[in-house]
Amino acid sequence: MKEDLLGAGNKLLAVFAHPDDETFICGGTLAKYAAAGAEITLISATRGEMGRRMGNPPYLNRETIAAAREEELREACRHLGVAHLHFLDIRDKTVEFIEEAELTARIETYIREIEPDAVLTFHEQWGGHPDHCAIGRATRIAYEQSGCQSGLYYISYGNMMAAPERYGYTRNDVVKIDVSGQFQAKLAAFRAHRCQSELDAWVWLPDAEAIAQFGKHEYFVRH
Ligand SMILES: [Zn+2]
Repeated sequence: MKEDLLGAGNKLLAVFAHPDDETFICGGTLAKYAAAGAEITLISATRGEMGRRMGNPPYLNRETIAAAREEELREACRHLGVAHLHFLDIRDKTVEFIEEAELTARIETYIREIEPDAVLTFHEQWGGHPDHCAIGRATRIAYEQSGCQSGLYYISYGNMMAAPERYGYTRNDVVKIDVSGQFQAKLAAFRAHRCQSELDAWVWLPDAEAIAQFGKHEYFVRH
C-alpha cells in the first residue's frame, strides 16, 4: 500500500456532502497534510440541516441548525488546518436530485481554479448515504471533465480497506495514511461538531480515552 496522497504537490481538495464528513471520516489525514504545509480546500455540498441530531439535550431546531453546523464546520476547519471552505448551498438530503450537469460544472470550476494535487471524495457506490454517493459521482465526473490528472481518491470507512480484495481492489490501489500524530487535532474537530458528536459519549471522555477510539490509519482508494 502506498502511504502518500500528494507526492511533491501541496494542494488538496476535498469534496464532501455534510459538515462533519471531513472530520469523522478523514480528519487525521487533513490535519496531517495541513501540518506539513499543504493548502487544503474543503467543499461541503450542504450545511447538514436535515440531520436528526439536534444537540444533547436538543438545543437546535430546523431553522437554527444550518447556521450552527456551518459555524461548527468553520471551527473544525481551524482545528484541522483546512485553509479554504466553500459551500455549494444545496439543501441537505437533496444532492441526488440536483441536475447533474449543473453540479458537475460547479465542481469542475473549482478543480480548474485550484489545480489540486489530489482530490478526495466519496465513492459513488459505497459512499453510504445518498448525498455522499451523489456528490462523489459528480466530483468524479467533474474531475474527468477537467482533465486533471493528479489523482482522485475515494475515502473509505474505518478499516474496510485494510482488506481491499473484498471490494474488488488490490493493495496497490489503496493509500494508507498513518494519522497517529494527529489524534489531538482530530479530537478537537470532533468536539467542534458538537451538535452531532454530543450524543457519542466517548468523544467527551478524557482526551486519552477518547483518542483510544481512533484508528491509527485512514485509508483511501485511487480512482
Ligand atoms: Zn455525511
